[in-house]
Amino acid sequence: MKNIQKIIALSKPLCALTWLLSLLVLVMSILQQAQPFFIKFIVDNIQLQLTNQQGNFKTVAYLMLGLLVVNLVSSILNSLSMRFGDYINSRLRRYLTEEFYSHVFTLPQKYFDSEISGKILNQLVRGIQSIQDFMGMFTNFVLPAIFQSIFTVGILFYYSGPIGLLALLIFPAYIYMSHYSTKKWGVEEMKKNRLEDITRGRISEVIGNIRLVRGFMAQAPEWKLVSKTLAKVNQIYDRQSTTYHLINFFREFSLELVLILISLITFNQTFKGQLSLGEMVLILQLINLLRRPLFAMSFILERIQAAESGSKEYFTIMDLKEEEKLNLLALPKSKLISRPSLHFDQVSFRYDTTGNEVLKKISFKIPSGQTVALVGHSGAGKSTIINLILKFYQPASGRIYLNERSYNHLSHQFVRSHISLVFQDNELFSTTIRENVSYGMGKTSDQQIISALKKANAYDFVMDLPGKLDAQIGERGVKLSGGQKQRIQISRAIMRNSPILILDEATSSLDSKSESAIQSALEYLMKNKLTIIIAHRFSTIQSADQILVIDQGKLVGCGTPAELAKQPGVYSELLRYQISGNEKLLAKYDLH
Ligand code: ADP
Repeated sequence: MKNIQKIIALSKPLCALTWLLSLLVLVMSILQQAQPFFIKFIVDNIQLQLTNQQGNFKTVAYLMLGLLVVNLVSSILNSLSMRFGDYINSRLRRYLTEEFYSHVFTLPQKYFDSEISGKILNQLVRGIQSIQDFMGMFTNFVLPAIFQSIFTVGILFYYSGPIGLLALLIFPAYIYMSHYSTKKWGVEEMKKNRLEDITRGRISEVIGNIRLVRGFMAQAPEWKLVSKTLAKVNQIYDRQSTTYHLINFFREFSLELVLILISLITFNQTFKGQLSLGEMVLILQLINLLRRPLFAMSFILERIQAAESGSKEYFTIMDLKEEEKLNLLALPKSKLISRPSLHFDQVSFRYDTTGNEVLKKISFKIPSGQTVALVGHSGAGKSTIINLILKFYQPASGRIYLNERSYNHLSHQFVRSHISLVFQDNELFSTTIRENVSYGMGKTSDQQIISALKKANAYDFVMDLPGKLDAQIGERGVKLSGGQKQRIQISRAIMRNSPILILDEATSSLDSKSESAIQSALEYLMKNKLTIIIAHRFSTIQSADQILVIDQGKLVGCGTPAELAKQPGVYSELLRYQISGNEKLLAKYDLH
């Protein structure tokens, strides 16, 4: 019931509307309950006419008119409540999704490192559906079920004690059996949900990496993996269904048995003249109506159980501790530092509290406007330094300063508002060139976009695309070449024009011709900016003011490219590899 309490707490903004709808449905069910009485009085009147000619057809006609009015009002209320229900449902869906989405933005990066996006999405969809179903059940069933039970049992008691008592006894037995069956169902449901999350997560990953899957001919194992998990899901479902229907059979059978017994007592009492024909018809109708609150109660229990298991992961995610604030408004430029500097002071870091130290007491200063290159073997910790500069993670010890203001006192938004990025992987959205270039910028003019494209040497190829600025580039820019994707990323960074620029292997997937064109664009972009470059190709970092050499999480060297080249160490070693690699290449060909 923990999750149910959370659902109720979460739905508070819609609480008043929910109660209003519940009351509407209650009035409707009261009207429905009045119908048997009209029939009772009509039958009584006919019986009076048949036995001693004292009936009055006018009364019968009036009663029928009354019945028509009740049915009409009931239909109007029904349409109103349905419309109102749709209104609440759509608001609830929006509210739950917005709450979830805004919370996801505040979660630590660590969470995204270990979760699959398809799985998160599946948990969101299921959570929202089960909460929505629960709320629908609450508004449509809870109040009417309570009212119908009390009303029907009360009337049955009024006409006959034994009948009323039997009707009353059905409730605890029926509810106990429903509770037992839904509890068993819920345990299996959680196992099923877990497997379904894994499957959907995998399918979404496979679709995202379809080139890799096809390239490695992995369709068959991928298909089999999903099929095998779904077979397990079906096994669980079979068990669930067998248990449910078995218990349901006993539940329904015992209900029918008691209802037949009540009917028998009713006929017997009518036979003996203790009940009138009209009263007998009334009781038979009420017995029939008794099924409604009983079914409603078992349905309520089922929905509670479904909401409990279906919303589990939704609330697990909602309960995760926020690490950063979500700000829907951008920081005004006037609040930003125009010429920032960066300072790492004895920074150590590990991704996992139990894992290895990835950075070990790293200290360096980058004055404003300087270009610094991070160099080191793969896995040395270069990207980790960038991750810390972006405040994706917190250092385990030590401090990072932006203009001598500690990161500990600066918001994530403030830090990142100073930074533009060009990623190693081509991080683009499956939308138009225009939206990708102006990403995160709000309203921008075509002139600004075109100017950025020109500076990044991307204008010509964009103009050749069908649709030009409105050309769709496919998921992660799949319709563009590697070099083109990077030039779009560079245009995006130029648009943003932040005082700190981070280039993660920005020129690695460009051919030599575009590389030189890009290099001049980057030099323009880097002017007067604090720039940090991770580049394996040393030709691209020769103009850096400072090179920081990282080895196994430690800063092992620092200096200008010329200084470091002269010293023994990782930098000169890597430089030599590259030069000798190129020499070997040159030696293979007889160039003139
Ligand atoms: P580089 O950029 O120099 O190639 P990284 O900073 O990416 O190196 O990685 C440094 C170390 O941190 C590596 O051992 C890598 O396996 C580990 N690492 C990188 N990212 C993560 C992560 N998200 N979670 C756990 N370990 C990571």
